[in-house]
Amino acid sequence: MGINADAAQSSTCDVAPPVHQQAGSQQAGSQQAGSQQAGSQQAGSQQAGSQRLGSRRAFHPLGSRTAGLWLALAAVLSGLPSRVAALDRVVMTRDGARRPLAGRVIAEAQDGGVVLQTADGVLWPLQPEDFVERKADNEPFQALSREEITTRLLADLPAGFRIHTTANYLIGYNTSLAYAQWCGALYERLHRGFHTFWDARGVDLKAPEFPLVALVFDSQESYVRGVRGELGAAATSIVGYYSPSTNRVNMYDLTGVEGLRPPGERVNSTTLINQILQRPEAAPMVATIVHEATHQLAFNCGLQTRLADNPVWVSEGLAVYFETPDLKSAKGWSSIGSLNRNRLIQFRKYLARRGPDSLEKLIRDDLRFREPATAIDAYAESWALHYFLLRTKSKEYASYVKRIGGKPPVIYDSPEERLAEFQAAFGSDLRKLDSEFLRYLRKLD
Ligand SMILES: [Zn+2]
Repeated sequence: MGINADAAQSSTCDVAPPVHQQAGSQQAGSQQAGSQQAGSQQAGSQQAGSQRLGSRRAFHPLGSRTAGLWLALAAVLSGLPSRVAALDRVVMTRDGARRPLAGRVIAEAQDGGVVLQTADGVLWPLQPEDFVERKADNEPFQALSREEITTRLLADLPAGFRIHTTANYLIGYNTSLAYAQWCGALYERLHRGFHTFWDARGVDLKAPEFPLVALVFDSQESYVRGVRGELGAAATSIVGYYSPSTNRVNMYDLTGVEGLRPPGERVNSTTLINQILQRPEAAPMVATIVHEATHQLAFNCGLQTRLADNPVWVSEGLAVYFETPDLKSAKGWSSIGSLNRNRLIQFRKYLARRGPDSLEKLIRDDLRFREPATAIDAYAESWALHYFLLRTKSKEYASYVKRIGGKPPVIYDSPEERLAEFQAAFGSDLRKLDSEFLRYLRKLD
């Protein structure tokens, strides 16, 4: 066993390419997705399910898809901290080309495979055959500054991209400055709301070690070209995603989506963008970009660790919990954690076929997220469980999430360990908790 080179590359937390299908601009992936979906296509942000689900399976590494391949790392990880001060230099070979990389090894397999983190924050899982040289020197690892990352982004991105800088984000864009500013403002509000939310619950977040980078392509076409290398064929069916390997959010200008922009209108002000994106048909797409930015925050502020064994119900439930933006306010985000009606509707539909072991299955492993037939319900139940736990057991949730946040990369728990960890935080009687949970959800309106 060793490092799965494919793991981080395909490790996008996909999510919701909702509506483009309805909005008209989309086609492709949607056909294939449609058949998987069937009944799930109802309400707003959730039918997202259709295109979403198909790809989710392929791209969700936050789960245990790669678990077996990484198990060997456990044996050697304990020796790593002392090496973090040194800079590891490897010469990577891929597709016949050589590329020097310098960074810090954050995990190492018995067979010599490593996960290397470069100074821009990117994670490189390397099999032994992926590199021809490896040596360490005494130079300390240092994350690149915002200026250095900006320079690197401009060099790496296709011609025509610029960088819009906000307090916490670098937004690379080739669409209008107004749209980049709109995204930057939305993300800053989310950032503020996210910190306030966890502060109030006694969870200390840390400042990101690397600048938060989001790329906004001017059209779906240029986005597909830009992300095809990472997403493959699924690029056409995903509206936006966070990649734990590159640590970036990728998306495209939603005001260009057919059916959303008033004909002949030039989208050159944030006021107009807000008007367009407040339309009900835009809601699932806006929810997606907020959802992805929430993943990025969780993985950069210490709530979760990239490539660690984060239970998918936690990663996704959290992101869905935050995905209801308040576009009416320029400053606040009063809607964080507000009732997500589409998820609630989906959850209530699920209740009719929900088995007595539903909660346990959700917690013990990620299997329910892997199949389109069960994933949409798993997302809804993860949201519902977060809604219940954060509102009725927020102290217990805080201690649980701190424990999850402390997990090292690429070491995977067994289903029994996951369950035990959950029970240690919320009590051993799952049946009792389940009845309480269902009672709470049934009362909501
Ligand atoms: Zn997600």
